[in-house]
Amino acid sequence: MNDAVARALREFNERLDVFDPAPGPAVAEVRVGEQVIALRAPVVRALTEALLRYQDPRDRGTCDHCGSPRLDDNFVCADCARPSGVFGQLLAERASRYEPPAELT
Ligand SMILES: [Zn+2]
Repeated sequence: MNDAVARALREFNERLDVFDPAPGPAVAEVRVGEQVIALRAPVVRALTEALLRYQDPRDRGTCDHCGSPRLDDNFVCADCARPSGVFGQLLAERASRYEPPAELT
Protein backbone atom coordinates (compact mmCIF):
# COMPACT_ATOMS: atom_id res chain seq x y z
CA MET A 1 0.00 0.00 0.00
CA ASN A 2 2.86 2.40 0.80
CA ASP A 3 4.28 1.96 -2.69
CA ALA A 4 0.91 2.79 -4.25
CA VAL A 5 0.60 5.98 -2.18
CA ALA A 6 4.18 7.04 -2.94
CA ARG A 7 3.70 6.32 -6.64
CA ALA A 8 0.44 8.31 -6.71
CA LEU A 9 2.15 11.29 -5.06
CA ARG A 10 5.11 11.15 -7.46
CA GLU A 11 2.80 10.92 -10.46
CA PHE A 12 0.75 13.82 -9.10
CA ASN A 13 3.98 15.84 -8.80
CA GLU A 14 4.95 15.01 -12.37
CA ARG A 15 1.50 15.80 -13.77
CA LEU A 16 1.50 19.27 -12.20
CA ASP A 17 5.16 20.09 -12.91
CA VAL A 18 4.37 19.83 -16.62
CA PHE A 19 2.20 22.95 -16.30
CA ASP A 20 4.65 24.93 -14.20
CA PRO A 21 8.14 25.11 -15.74
CA ALA A 22 9.53 27.02 -12.72
CA PRO A 23 7.65 25.53 -9.77
CA GLY A 24 10.25 26.64 -7.19
CA PRO A 25 11.68 24.67 -4.28
CA ALA A 26 9.88 22.02 -2.26
CA VAL A 27 7.77 23.53 0.51
CA ALA A 28 6.58 20.29 2.09
CA GLU A 29 7.61 16.67 2.33
CA VAL A 30 5.42 13.63 2.73
CA ARG A 31 6.94 10.52 4.28
CA VAL A 32 5.43 7.23 3.16
CA GLY A 33 7.19 4.42 4.95
CA GLU A 34 10.87 4.91 4.10
CA GLN A 35 10.14 7.11 1.10
CA VAL A 36 10.08 10.91 1.25
CA ILE A 37 8.30 12.78 -1.51
CA ALA A 38 9.07 16.49 -1.84
CA LEU A 39 6.17 18.71 -2.89
CA ARG A 40 6.50 22.14 -4.48
CA ALA A 41 4.04 24.96 -3.80
CA PRO A 42 1.78 24.37 -6.85
CA VAL A 43 1.51 20.70 -5.91
CA VAL A 44 0.74 21.52 -2.26
CA ARG A 45 -2.03 23.93 -3.36
CA ALA A 46 -3.51 21.36 -5.75
CA LEU A 47 -3.28 18.55 -3.19
CA THR A 48 -4.93 20.73 -0.53
CA GLU A 49 -7.75 21.60 -2.93
CA ALA A 50 -8.20 17.94 -3.86
CA LEU A 51 -8.37 16.91 -0.19
CA LEU A 52 -10.92 19.61 0.62
CA ARG A 53 -13.12 18.55 -2.32
CA TYR A 54 -12.94 14.84 -1.60
CA GLN A 55 -16.25 13.23 -0.76
CA ASP A 56 -16.25 9.69 0.50
CA PRO A 57 -18.56 7.44 -1.57
CA ARG A 58 -20.10 6.27 1.73
CA ASP A 59 -21.09 9.84 2.58
CA ARG A 60 -24.85 9.96 1.98
CA GLY A 61 -25.46 13.21 3.84
CA THR A 62 -26.89 13.44 7.33
CA CYS A 63 -29.94 11.88 8.93
CA ASP A 64 -33.05 14.09 8.76
CA HIS A 65 -34.03 12.99 12.26
CA CYS A 66 -30.87 13.01 14.40
CA GLY A 67 -28.21 14.60 12.16
CA SER A 68 -25.93 11.55 12.20
CA PRO A 69 -23.70 11.14 9.11
CA ARG A 70 -23.95 7.33 9.31
CA LEU A 71 -26.54 6.39 6.68
CA ASP A 72 -26.37 2.94 5.09
CA ASP A 73 -26.95 2.00 1.42
CA ASN A 74 -30.71 2.16 2.02
CA PHE A 75 -30.48 5.57 3.72
CA VAL A 76 -31.31 4.05 7.09
CA CYS A 77 -29.56 5.79 9.97
CA ALA A 78 -27.15 3.60 11.96
CA ASP A 79 -27.77 5.72 15.06
CA CYS A 80 -31.57 6.19 15.23
CA ALA A 81 -32.54 3.37 12.80
CA ARG A 82 -34.99 5.59 10.88
CA PRO A 83 -34.97 6.04 7.09
CA SER A 84 -33.67 9.46 6.08
CA GLY A 85 -34.95 11.66 3.28
CA VAL A 86 -37.56 10.98 0.63
CA PHE A 87 -35.43 8.27 -0.97
CA GLY A 88 -34.95 6.46 2.35
CA GLN A 89 -38.67 6.71 3.06
CA LEU A 90 -39.52 5.26 -0.38
CA LEU A 91 -37.11 2.36 0.13
CA ALA A 92 -38.58 1.64 3.58
CA GLU A 93 -42.15 1.70 2.23
CA ARG A 94 -41.27 -0.62 -0.64
CA ALA A 95 -39.44 -3.00 1.70
CA SER A 96 -42.46 -3.15 4.03
CA ARG A 97 -44.74 -4.13 1.12
CA TYR A 98 -42.33 -6.68 -0.35
CA GLU A 99 -43.53 -10.28 -0.32
CA PRO A 100 -40.96 -12.87 -1.35
CA PRO A 101 -41.92 -15.30 -4.13
CA ALA A 102 -43.44 -18.56 -2.89
CA GLU A 103 -40.37 -20.59 -3.92
CA LEU A 104 -38.26 -18.55 -1.47
CA THR A 105 -40.55 -19.00 1.55
ZN1 LIG B 1 -30.68 9.28 12.65
